[in-house]
Amino acid sequence: MATNQKHDLRCPAHPGPKRGLSGYGGVVQKFVYDFEEGNRDLKDLLGGKGANLAEMTNLGLPVPPGFTITTDACRAFLETGEMPGQDEISKHLAALEEKMGRRLGEPADPLLVSVRSGAKFSMPGMMETVLNVGLTDDSVAGLAAQAGDDERFAWDSYRRLIQMFGKTVCDVPGEEFEHALDDAKHRAGTREDVGLKAEHLKGLVADYKRIFSEHTGRDFPQDPREQLDLAVGAVFRSWNADRAVLYRRQERIPSNLGTAVNVVAMVFGNLGADSGTGVAFTRDPATGERGVYGDYLANAQGEDVVAGIRNTMPLQDLEQRDKASYDQLMSIMTTLEEHYKDLCDIEFTIERGKLWMLQTRVGKRTAAAAFVIATHLVDEGVIDLDEAVHRVSGAQLAQLMFPTFDLSAEPAQLTRGVGASPGAAVGKAVFDAQHAVAMAKEGEQVILVRRETNPDDLPGMIAAQGILTSRGGKTSHAAVVARGMGKTCVCGADELDVNLHKGQFTVGGHVVSEGDVISVDGTTGRVYLGEVPVQPSPVVQYFEGTLDPQADPLVSAVHRILTHADERRRLRVRTNADTGEDAARARRFGAQGIGLCRTEHMFLGERRALVERLILARTTEQREAALAELLPLQREDFTELFREMAGLPVTVRLIDPPLHEFLPPLEDLAVKVAVAEERGEDPGHDRDLLDAVRRMHEENPMLGLRGVRLGLVIPGLFAMQVRAIVEAAAAVPDAHPEIMVPLVGAVQELETIRAEAEKIIGEFAVDVKIGTMIEVPRAALTAGDIAQAADFFSFGTNDLTQMGWGFSRDDVEGAFFWRYLELGIFGVSPFESIDRDGVGRLVRIAVDEGRAARPELHFGVCGEHGGDPDSVHFFHEVGLDYVSCSPFRVPVARLEAGRAAIETTGSDSR
Ligand code: ADP
Ligand code: MG
Ligand code: MG
Repeated sequence: MATNQKHDLRCPAHPGPKRGLSGYGGVVQKFVYDFEEGNRDLKDLLGGKGANLAEMTNLGLPVPPGFTITTDACRAFLETGEMPGQDEISKHLAALEEKMGRRLGEPADPLLVSVRSGAKFSMPGMMETVLNVGLTDDSVAGLAAQAGDDERFAWDSYRRLIQMFGKTVCDVPGEEFEHALDDAKHRAGTREDVGLKAEHLKGLVADYKRIFSEHTGRDFPQDPREQLDLAVGAVFRSWNADRAVLYRRQERIPSNLGTAVNVVAMVFGNLGADSGTGVAFTRDPATGERGVYGDYLANAQGEDVVAGIRNTMPLQDLEQRDKASYDQLMSIMTTLEEHYKDLCDIEFTIERGKLWMLQTRVGKRTAAAAFVIATHLVDEGVIDLDEAVHRVSGAQLAQLMFPTFDLSAEPAQLTRGVGASPGAAVGKAVFDAQHAVAMAKEGEQVILVRRETNPDDLPGMIAAQGILTSRGGKTSHAAVVARGMGKTCVCGADELDVNLHKGQFTVGGHVVSEGDVISVDGTTGRVYLGEVPVQPSPVVQYFEGTLDPQADPLVSAVHRILTHADERRRLRVRTNADTGEDAARARRFGAQGIGLCRTEHMFLGERRALVERLILARTTEQREAALAELLPLQREDFTELFREMAGLPVTVRLIDPPLHEFLPPLEDLAVKVAVAEERGEDPGHDRDLLDAVRRMHEENPMLGLRGVRLGLVIPGLFAMQVRAIVEAAAAVPDAHPEIMVPLVGAVQELETIRAEAEKIIGEFAVDVKIGTMIEVPRAALTAGDIAQAADFFSFGTNDLTQMGWGFSRDDVEGAFFWRYLELGIFGVSPFESIDRDGVGRLVRIAVDEGRAARPELHFGVCGEHGGDPDSVHFFHEVGLDYVSCSPFRVPVARLEAGRAAIETTGSDSR
């Protein structure tokens, strides 16, 4: 039957391209690979499934013969609508027929094949597979004879083909087949598929064929090669199915890869009680514990296991049923683990006591399992510690540091959406941003529920513990903004019917009204009714020193891997901290100093009044008096920090934000003053404040009077801070202060401040380094000059990103970043992960030119990028000395700095 005859590659129901052609673009290209010809490194070309089927074949494992049509062919097909490599397919099919001693669909003794999708990255449930291709009205009897006159089996296989083919290739609604199947079972008086006898199935096939022709306007194809070609085309097209496109966007899988198609000789798990099919993992993918995990279903074909049609049995029970196959499976799993040096998942089928391997790959696992498996593999001598560090990620570690819900009481799960920003949030549902703000002011914990969010919702998002939306994915407004704020968010929970008008949502028969408590898990995307108890992360308890690493297998794995990452990394990791408490915590988390202490935080609260006096001062005496009162307070702040960080460097940034930020808002003051005047009272102090606020108003405060500019125009302000730092350092043993000047753009600015500071430092016997932030593009571009006046550079990548892109962060994230992400202008927000090409280039220039001008110069980064995994790798590459990040990010940065070092030096086991 393997003719060279060509078929229209679309089901006739589709308007579609014309007959296929051979060759593509005139280039001689190989479009089809036999399993013997491939290997696991060819995932780009053969897809994951095809590459691993080839690998297993070459390992001598029992894989049914077959071949793979490449992703190149898919791309060509999707571009031109014509199937390349038809002749090659015919040749490989002929070879397969030869090997099997059967011809595709031959009536007397048919060869059947499966047609299976398989892309480079696994996209579970996204694409299509058709089993039993080649079966026709004529060959169904031949198949029965082949199976020892098993008519039931043959008709069962045929009805599966029509069902899968109809659904996948010709878009026949799947429910129609399911209804017909239910009816057949009903008529036969059975509840299980296996209860259907041959004659029932024969009738069912007739029903299926009728459904097929009703929907497609043609009979079910009786030419086996036409079935094959149509199925291949359908699998290729499934790459661009809506759900596949959506999945790729969410998982950030490139859209131009295409899928391969695997054509595999069928083996049959539905041949009776001594046959069956199953899936297995070589270790537990949830916890990482050793031991075999899997499910087995007797007398079934592959898709039944996943579809949950019948209850499967634990794989362990197969040992009793079929010891030989079980033992062989165990030994194959050992072979696979030794070969892949990692957890594998597999699909297999047993045909009358003969085991066949149908799929394997390095299996997905939870974050916890990733750590546990990596260290177990080290203990088993399979990989070394370098490789173990490489196998886990900072993102996984970060995930393990969030508190989680304690699900032991089995709370009612309402629905599941996309986990867009991790965390476990509990609160009363609110459907309106203003209500959220109002309730939060009353001290309530709230969850903001919206269909989708927009910039108007921002205050509500800030006020809420978490955000839940029914629409949008990981790049929606809600997701982007929530991640930016570090707030728990689940989005795209599309089962929710949100009625903003009524202030309620309904899902699966539950009605949740404003004020009802819900619990939202931003890691798993699950939403629960009521308050689910939150449990602290054991990993955090370990960092805090309250949990012994040996007490828990996960914690012990994290401990070993981080310890090794620490040994290997070149980057030091500091923290951003302004209080003794944060500093102490960060130190427990492994921080090697403070890279950024923001002094403006010390000007808040009760001290605001002093700052107001400073701003309102009309005479030198008034100003100096205010500064003199601030001095001892600042000294105390620094003393505490130096104590907590004794022996380690503490970088203190001189005051950075515009001073009007410390004054009340203009509108509030204007109203107060107006009211007082109306009543004939003297607004007094408020009038002075209002005048000051008006005087100091700026159109673009982020580009106005701030940072070093304050130090240059307000006499004594920086001097007071420098004095406080030096006095504190002189009093604390082993203090290592560093003074950092923000927003410098020209060396002259830094020189002026430096001269003033050195005078003060000279009065004490302390060693204080003076450096600058590099956060204005001009500073990066004149780094060689600035280096002359600096002991260190610390990159302020938040401002550098704002000014490099001309983005006002507070405005753009909510206003249009979702659109930029959707259009692919960037794949991640440049505030989340450093833009290597643009902002990163400024960093590189400043490092190279700064170091050339002054080799002993020290380099660090103190923007939020310091704790972002990808950015840490970049900072390692450009040769910074340290990164500084928030206390909770310190372990993540330690791990990623270790991974970056290992990846650049390489490791033998990879
Ligand atoms: P998915 O990627 O969704 O797992 P697969 O291509 O792996 O799709 O196939 C779906 C099911 O059919 C699996 O359980 C698989 O093991 C089974 N299957 C695929 N090809 C064959 C075959 N040649 N013989 C028997 N079962 C098969
Ligand atoms: Mg599979
Ligand atoms: Mg800044």
